[in-house]
Amino acid sequence: MAFNLIMMGPPGAGKGTQAERFARAHGVPKISTGDMLREAVQAGTELGRRAKAIMETGKLVGDDIVIGIVRERLARADTVPGFVLDGFPRTVMQARALDTIVEGRDPLVIVDIAVPDDVLVGRLAARRVCGKCAGTFGPAELAGGGTVCPRCGGPLVQRADDNEAVVRARLEVYERETQPLIEYYEARPTFHVIDGTQPPDSVQAAVAAAVESAAVTRRMLAEQGS
Ligand code: AMP
Repeated sequence: MAFNLIMMGPPGAGKGTQAERFARAHGVPKISTGDMLREAVQAGTELGRRAKAIMETGKLVGDDIVIGIVRERLARADTVPGFVLDGFPRTVMQARALDTIVEGRDPLVIVDIAVPDDVLVGRLAARRVCGKCAGTFGPAELAGGGTVCPRCGGPLVQRADDNEAVVRARLEVYERETQPLIEYYEARPTFHVIDGTQPPDSVQAAVAAAVESAAVTRRMLAEQGS
């Protein structure tokens, strides 16, 4: 069975970290719309120019644009054994489009990493990214000042949208646009809420358990059907 995982949760919940761990553990690609948009901004493409101003305010880039990016990415052969989506879908329209894109594949497993707002604001203010390898690091990994990347030695900077005013705007956008997705998905047997205030290793174990339970259910259904 393919591992088709959606990592949901507010900004700062640890989606990116968990998506990366899952991707590495299962040998599937991590597909992050935020990373792809930042790459386009960096490269100065037409898409990047359009996305930059929107991203800097914490608002969402248009559904058509991100749906197009994800549709193209999921058409590539490396997603056949599975994928983990990080930061997509973020609106009900994106979720509907995704259901159409993945029609005929193994079911989506949806993991919602829940973290209270006050914890998120603190985490995002302290978060730094590496200008060289693009790694993201929270306060626990930045002991001793945190100006140099613990992974590659590159310079650490704050993401343009991690300052407090933009963080508040992003959390508001999340409440308004992305929370309704929980209603969209919650009736599915493959939807799971995970406590994101736990240590990263515990969150990782909970994600693995959610995916395993989906695989068990699927095997049982397949056996009943045969
Ligand atoms: P992230 O790295 O996931 O926090 O995304 C950073 C920014 O990129 C967001 O605040 C949005 O402006 C934009 N973005 C990323 N993913 C999406 C998406 N699925 N839909 C709309 N905008 C997105």
